[in-house]
Amino acid sequence: MPDQYAVIGNPVAHSKSPQIHAAFARQTGQDLTYERLLAPTHAFMETASAFRARGGRGLNVTLPFKGEAFRFAGLLSERARAAQAVNTLKFEGNATYGDNTDGAGLVYDLVRNLGCAVAGRRVLLLGAGGAARGVIKPLLEQQPAQLVLANRTLGKAQLLAQSFGGGLEAGTYAALAGRQFDLVVNATSASLAGELPPLPPGVFAPGALAYDMVYGTDDTPFLAFARGEGAAALADGLGMLVEQAAESFLIWRGLRPDTAPVLKLLRHATA
Ligand code: NAP
Repeated sequence: MPDQYAVIGNPVAHSKSPQIHAAFARQTGQDLTYERLLAPTHAFMETASAFRARGGRGLNVTLPFKGEAFRFAGLLSERARAAQAVNTLKFEGNATYGDNTDGAGLVYDLVRNLGCAVAGRRVLLLGAGGAARGVIKPLLEQQPAQLVLANRTLGKAQLLAQSFGGGLEAGTYAALAGRQFDLVVNATSASLAGELPPLPPGVFAPGALAYDMVYGTDDTPFLAFARGEGAAALADGLGMLVEQAAESFLIWRGLRPDTAPVLKLLRHATA
């Protein structure tokens, strides 16, 4: 019987994770299955427990359950603790191990795939929700010259910055006027609603990379704005998605697949 894995969420029908993990399994010759698991919004724990009881070896966790998965895991990685969210569960005997691979996925995509060093650069992170929280520790570990967090609701950004012990600065969008950054990461959900965070003009330094965690076929409003503002390079979050999946695969199977052909496959499928 192959080892069983799944992505759990609500909704989950849109998830590309089954396609990604099937490609990883083929490439590495691992005998496993990977399905979509739709959990009722009030029944994450029951659905995850039932999957574990029928022999499931691990889960990827997507919206809206990353906080519940954090509470469900008995053992937590340091990065999951910092994120207060879990996107990867591993079941081993009676133990449930929780990790968060989103930040590592982003950093891997930036540094390895896009050739954009974070070390010594001025970094602006937009948003103060779960996605932003998940990437702060891995970004800080790269030792940027500055990490500035901007959010529509200032109090949320301030609380988040405090919880990381002051390693980053929190502010409003208006306070960004006159400042420039080498890397601007959009971790808001604004693009999903076809909206643009209220960025002042001039935030992209010469040579800057604009990165939107949301992915799709067309420029998001943020990427279109960045293009108009003269950002030197643009990237969407498909690379982050594939790299966070590779980190999960590593946790489960002990080997990291080659992500380049899988990213190419997905780009081709979404073109
Ligand atoms: P969330 O917890 O709901 O947070 C949403 C954030 O977006 C909040 O900071 C919110 O600001 C801000 N926001 C929403 N609409 C806005 C607007 N029109 N203008 C300015 N700010 C706005 O969501 P999340 O879990 O952090 O996810 C954020 C995005 O990241 C999602 O689109 C998700 O798809 C993406 N994501 C991608 C990957 C990947 O692998 N590529 C991984 C994780 C997440 P307020 O606090 O003021 O409400």
